[in-house]
Amino acid sequence: SEPLLQVRDLKVHFPVRGGFWGRARGAVKAVDGVGLDVVRGETLGLVGESGCGKSTLGRALLRLVEPTAGSIRFDGQELTGQSQRQLRPLRRRMQLVFQDPYASLNPRMTVRDILGEPFAIHGLARGRGEREREVAALVDAMGLPREALDRYPHEFSGGQRQRIGIARAIALRPDLVVADEPISALDVSIQAQIVNLLVDLQRERGLTYVFIAHDLKIVEYVSTRVAVMYLGRIVELAPAADLYRRPRHPYTQALLSAVPVPDPGRARTRMLVPGEPPSPLNPPTGCAFHPRCPHAMERCRRETPPLYPLGAGHSAACFLAEGDAREVAPTPTSGG
Ligand code: SF4
Ligand code: MG
Repeated sequence: SEPLLQVRDLKVHFPVRGGFWGRARGAVKAVDGVGLDVVRGETLGLVGESGCGKSTLGRALLRLVEPTAGSIRFDGQELTGQSQRQLRPLRRRMQLVFQDPYASLNPRMTVRDILGEPFAIHGLARGRGEREREVAALVDAMGLPREALDRYPHEFSGGQRQRIGIARAIALRPDLVVADEPISALDVSIQAQIVNLLVDLQRERGLTYVFIAHDLKIVEYVSTRVAVMYLGRIVELAPAADLYRRPRHPYTQALLSAVPVPDPGRARTRMLVPGEPPSPLNPPTGCAFHPRCPHAMERCRRETPPLYPLGAGHSAACFLAEGDAREVAPTPTSGG
């Protein structure tokens, strides 16, 4: 069947102001020509270091950030070029789970009001009794006690707060959920619980996920396919098992062999990829990864590698993969 989401040549460029008259000095190409499909019922892991554009891409998929160019089709309907009013009927079908459940929940609202709000906004579950039933079913599904309904966000732990954030996102039975680093702010001991909750909800409700993370290990267990992003572009895309077994892009290889290092100011570690992450303000020429790539060739400084299709749904944007590239066949053929 048709993919739930079809993204073609998507760009999100932000003007950089400054200089004498505050005129645009240029643009940060946060998302710079992304094409991908998200299949119904799958989890697409979207991975890259901070600043690579993965959060911007995730928000652009939901039209929460305005794309500069390109096409996004959701269930066959073009999202770009539509007003927010036109998008309204689609809004309930596409939801975002935030990284920080502390910042994303209104501290002055009880859980009952937080979870009731989506129904009110969309004019669903009109009667008080009906809304109460829906909200109670949500806290049950999240494994929270009914008493939670009368409490405020600050009365909960980080993991419980994220359960409330997830409950709000799935309240209206969306088709697509973009989860932007949903466990990164949580204690390691809680992370698996939240991941398992997301997996259970997906199975029970037929959800499709885009699961954003900065670490390949976090999405390994949940992903059907994984897209690796570097400086605004997808540099590798593959079925999960294939990506972890046989990564083709040197950046993916570096992410997989990254070692945990202490994260200053936080009681956890970060995975460290050798070399400096590039500045989106002043991106490298050619292949954006070349200043950090152990295999960089002269050509890599001048030319930008396209995303080469390598067969079996695997593609990589590296000249080293060029020799294995397949023609993209317009229709299935007997060749190959
Ligand atoms: Fe490295 Fe060149 Fe491949 Fe870029 S294209 S990842 S610099 S080998
Ligand atoms: Mg982010």
